[in-house]
Amino acid sequence: MIVDRTRALEVLIGLPDVEFVGLDDSGTVLRIVIERQGVRPSCRSCGTLALGKGRRDVELVDLPAFGRPTAIVFRKHRWMCPTASCRVGSWTAQDPRIAAPRAVMTDRCARWCTREVGEYGRPVSDLAKVLGCDWHTVNDTVIRYGEALLDADTDRVGATRALGLDETLFARVGRYRQQCWSTQIVDVEHGVLLDIVEGRSAQEPCRWLANREAAWLAGVAYGTIDLTGVYRSVFDTMLPGAILIADPFHVVRVANRYLDECRRRVQNQTVGHRGRKSDPLYRARRRLTMARERLSESQHERMLGLLRAGDPHQEVWFAWNAKEVVRQTYDHVDHALAVEWVDAIERDFADREMPIEVRKLGRTIGRWKQQIVAWHRARFTNAPTEAINNLVKRVKRVAFGFRRFQNYRVRALLYAGRPNWHLLADITP
Ligand SMILES: [Zn+2]
Repeated sequence: MIVDRTRALEVLIGLPDVEFVGLDDSGTVLRIVIERQGVRPSCRSCGTLALGKGRRDVELVDLPAFGRPTAIVFRKHRWMCPTASCRVGSWTAQDPRIAAPRAVMTDRCARWCTREVGEYGRPVSDLAKVLGCDWHTVNDTVIRYGEALLDADTDRVGATRALGLDETLFARVGRYRQQCWSTQIVDVEHGVLLDIVEGRSAQEPCRWLANREAAWLAGVAYGTIDLTGVYRSVFDTMLPGAILIADPFHVVRVANRYLDECRRRVQNQTVGHRGRKSDPLYRARRRLTMARERLSESQHERMLGLLRAGDPHQEVWFAWNAKEVVRQTYDHVDHALAVEWVDAIERDFADREMPIEVRKLGRTIGRWKQQIVAWHRARFTNAPTEAINNLVKRVKRVAFGFRRFQNYRVRALLYAGRPNWHLLADITP
C-alpha cells in the first residue's frame, strides 16, 4: 500500500515520469496540472546543456476521472540552446507517451475514443459530452488515429471470392443539399467492407482494383452489381473472368421504378395533373410498391379499389403485376426453372397490349437475363452488411467539415471493415 500522498496521486494520474503540481477544481472539468520529471536536457544538435526559457501550459482532454470530465494541464518546459552559433534555438519539451505532437487530447484518451467510435460505433457527440470537449476534438482524433490504424493494417483486405460494388449516398452538403456519392467495395460472402472510393463512376473502383495483386484478383470468382452498367464495365475491364450476378434488390427496384413511371403517366393522362392527396392513384402509390405478401388482405383490397377508381385501362394494374412477377423470379430455387421464368418475362412483357413501361421493363430484364439467373447458381447479393447501413444512417445526420469523404471512409472502415484492433496499441499517429 502506498501511504505517500504525492506518490499516490501520481499513481492515480497514471502518466509516466510526471510530477503532480496542483488541481483546479473551479469548473465542471477537473484540471490536473502536471509537469515533466527529470533533468535538464541537452541540445540535440551541439550537446550543450539547455537553458530554461519558462513554461507553457498545454491543456489536454483526458479520460474522465471518478465520473467527472477531466483535463490534464501539461506544464511544458521551454528550452533554448545557449550556444550562439547553434541553429537549434529554442524548443518545447514533447512527450508522445502523454500526447501526440499538436494533439489536444492525451494519447490514452485518443486511443479510447478511436475504439469507442470506430469499433463500437458510439456517436462522436456522446463521447464529446462524456469528455466535456468539442465534437471536432473527438472527431479529428478518431480520424487521425483511425487513419494510422488502417495504414498499419496491411493484411485487412483478405482473399475475396465474391466482390460487390454498390453506390452509396453518404452525405448531402451545402445550401442545395448536394448529394455526395461513393462506391462501396464489399466482400459479399463475408459481409466485410473492403473499401470505399469516391464517386459512382467506373474510374475509382478500377483504380482500386489495379492496386491489388494478381493473386488476389484471380481469386475473385463472382461479382454482384446493380443494373446500371457502370459497375459491369468495372468487372469487364478489371475482372473479365468473374461471373456477374445482378443484385436482386436492384432488379426489384427497377421493376418498382417502371411501376411508378406508369402510375404517374396514367395519373397525368386521366386527371391532367400531377398526383394530389385526393387522387386514387396517388393514394395507392405506397401500397403499389410494397411486396404483395406484406400487404394485409384489407390493404390489398383497398389498393385494388383505388386502381378501379383511377386506372381505367388497367395499365397500372398490369405494371403492378409485372413487378410481382419479377419478384417471383427469386422464389425459384432451381436455375433451369429460373431461366424459363425470365425467358417468359421477356416474351410476355413484350406483348403490344402491355403498357409501355412494362415493355421497357421486359427489355431491361432481357438485357440482364444472364446476370439475373446467375444468382440462382451462386446466391451472392449486394445486401451491404447491417453495420454499413447503420453507419451510413448515422453519418448522414452529421454535417462533415473539410475532407468529409476521407472522414466518412475512415469511420466506415473502422466500423465495418474489420480492422485488426490489436494493432491500435502500437500505432504512431
Ligand atoms: Zn545547440
